[in-house]
Amino acid sequence: MRKIRIVLFITALAAILAGYALRTVFPERKIDEKAYLKEMLPELKFSEKKQNPPHYRADNGIIAFSTYDIAPSVRGYAGPIKLLLALSPDGRIAGIRILEHQETKNYVHYMETPEYLSRFIGKDVRDQFRIDRDIDGISRATVSVEAMAKTMRDSSRSIASGVLGIETVTNGKRISQSPGWISYLLLFSSAFSFYLLTRRSKRFIRVRDIFLVTGILIIGLYLSSPFSILHVFNLLLLRSSSSLLWLTIILTTFISLVLAGRFYCGWLCPFGALSEFIGRIPLKKWDIRPETDDQWRSLKYLFLGLIAAVVLISRKVEFGNYETYVTLFSFNGTYLAWSLVVISTLANLRIERFWCRYLCPVAAFTGLLSRKAGGYPSRKDCPIGNRPDPLISECIRCNRCYRS
Ligand code: SF4
Repeated sequence: MRKIRIVLFITALAAILAGYALRTVFPERKIDEKAYLKEMLPELKFSEKKQNPPHYRADNGIIAFSTYDIAPSVRGYAGPIKLLLALSPDGRIAGIRILEHQETKNYVHYMETPEYLSRFIGKDVRDQFRIDRDIDGISRATVSVEAMAKTMRDSSRSIASGVLGIETVTNGKRISQSPGWISYLLLFSSAFSFYLLTRRSKRFIRVRDIFLVTGILIIGLYLSSPFSILHVFNLLLLRSSSSLLWLTIILTTFISLVLAGRFYCGWLCPFGALSEFIGRIPLKKWDIRPETDDQWRSLKYLFLGLIAAVVLISRKVEFGNYETYVTLFSFNGTYLAWSLVVISTLANLRIERFWCRYLCPVAAFTGLLSRKAGGYPSRKDCPIGNRPDPLISECIRCNRCYRS
C-alpha cells in the first residue's frame, strides 16, 4: 500500500504539472463570442465589443454580453457557468446561450437544452430570479441552476443599469441556497456521532442500516450528490464552488477521512449501501482466493491513477466520469454507463460490495488517505471481504468486528 500511495501521489503531481505546462504551451481555445451571437440572434448585426462594461450593441438597441465578464465570482458545482445574454432596451432577456461550464454533464444535461433555456426569454431583469418561484428548478441540478440564476441576475442588472440606464435593485434578495446542505449535514453529524459513540459496542450494529437507508434516500435520491472523484479532480484543478452543499460534502468527507478512514463508504455512500443490501440476499458467494482478491483490489488504484493522469493533463474532468453512482442517481448516462451500473449491481449477489472492492475510484482515494487504526481484527461476515487483520485502508468502519 505504501508503494501504491507513493506511485499515485507522484502520478497526480506529475499530471498536474504536465497539465499546467501544456496549458502554457497550448493555451485553451478562446470562446468565439461573435459566432455564438450570430447563432443566437442571426437577424441582428452587433458592434465590436465595447468596454466598461464589456458588451456588444445591435442597431435596434439590443445589448449582448458574456456574464463572466460582469459577474465572474458566481460559481456552480465546479466553477463559473459562462453565459451569453442579450437584453432588450426595456430590460428583458432576448437571447441566452451557455458558453462554457465545468459541471457534471449527467446532472445538467437538461439545463443545457434549448427547451429549458427558452423559458428565460422575456424575463425582466427586475424580477427576483428565485428558484421554483419565477425560475424553474431542476431536481438533481439544484446547485448549477442556482448558480446560473445568480450569474444571470447579477450580470443583467449590472448591464441594465450601467448601459441601458434602467434602475434596478442591485442588492436584491439573495438567491436562496437550497436547504439540501442542512439535510446532508444533519445526516452526517448523526451518523458520525453514532459511529464514534458505539464503535466499542456490538449491540447497536444494526442501527447502521438506518443510516444506510437514509443515505440512499437523502444523498442518492433527494440530493443526488454522492461524494464523487470528480469533487477531488475539481479541487486539484482549483475549481471550487460557492455552493453550501458542495462545501458541506467536501468538508464532512475530509473530516471523517482524517478521523475515521473510509467511514463515508461504510455509513453514507448510497451506492455502497445499495450494494451491501443486495449482497445480503442469501445467495452463495463466490469463494475468491485471498491472493486473487488482493490483485483485483489493486485494479481500483490502477484505474484511479490512469484516469487521474488523463484528467489532470487534459484538465477535462468529464474524462474521469466513470462512476456508477453518478449515472444511477442522476438517472442519466450512456448505454455503456448503464451497463456498468447493472453489472456492478448484480455482481453483489456473488461478491459483496463488488464495486467498492475492485473498481470504485472514491474507495481507492479514501483508502489511500486512510490511517491505520487498531481494534479492527475483521471477521467472516465483513461486508468488504477483509480477511482477519485486514488491510486497514480497505476497512469501511462498519463496526462489526471492533475489538475494544
Ligand atoms: S474490517 Fe471490520 S470494521 Fe472493517 S469493514 Fe470489515 S468487519 Fe467492518
